[in-house]
Amino acid sequence: MSLLKVEDLTVQYDGSEALSGLSFTLEQGDYLCIVGENGSGKSTLIKALLGLKKPDGGSITYQGLAQSQIGYMPQQTDIQRDFPASVMEVVLTGCLKANGRRPFFSAKTKKLALENLEKTGAAQLAKKCYGELSGGQQQRVLMARALCSTEKLLILDEPVANLDPKATDELYALIDELNKKHGITVIMVSHDIRCAAMQAGKILHIDKTLVFFGTTNDYINSPEGRRFLSHSHHDI
Ligand code: ADP
Ligand code: MG
Repeated sequence: MSLLKVEDLTVQYDGSEALSGLSFTLEQGDYLCIVGENGSGKSTLIKALLGLKKPDGGSITYQGLAQSQIGYMPQQTDIQRDFPASVMEVVLTGCLKANGRRPFFSAKTKKLALENLEKTGAAQLAKKCYGELSGGQQQRVLMARALCSTEKLLILDEPVANLDPKATDELYALIDELNKKHGITVIMVSHDIRCAAMQAGKILHIDKTLVFFGTTNDYINSPEGRRFLSHSHHDI
């Protein structure tokens, strides 16, 4: 049984379609990269997958996973980059569900936060102020935060945006490790198409509706893939 099944998905804003008749399935352990030009519906698809935008047609079905158990790493804004909190506080905001309805974070929840900081190689930053970290360090902290709400599915929106090449490589290596070593299914939107496509095992290329869905190898050798990859300056 597939982890995620999207069938004939249609999503509208004020009566105009941002996504139309989109279908694909993901298996546990997949690493999917979503590509498409600006305005092609990538963010809309992510919002629908997270339950933040209701479908106007079709269906999204998870198997063995509640929509609330998805780890989500949103695209960073400048305001978030200066967020005046400690690293531990930022990670703990991802643990609200794990913590239940207690007024304070339990020892168990703090342990979960620390374990996930260790998984993302950021444990030594726990006591630092989030706003003083480098871009790459901040992304590791946000990844740990997302991991606090999931052991199964991570959704990442432009995780390497604004990172230098070294930090980009390190973050891709981390995502790969979470996928391969910890078995976490990954869905990533990236405008860094060449790199992102090489990292991921599967590609979903959309333009409101399906352009291509399949393995990275098949995509690279397809007419759609070749055309798209040859225009890597595309702002997607
Ligand atoms: P992408 O992330 O691929 O750039 P989006 O999913 O953000 O694309 O947008 C897809 C389409 O939906 C675009 O035409 C965009 O203008 C429209 N759209 C996105 N968000 C909204 C919104 N909140 N209200 C109205 N239209 C929107
Ligand atoms: Mg977008």
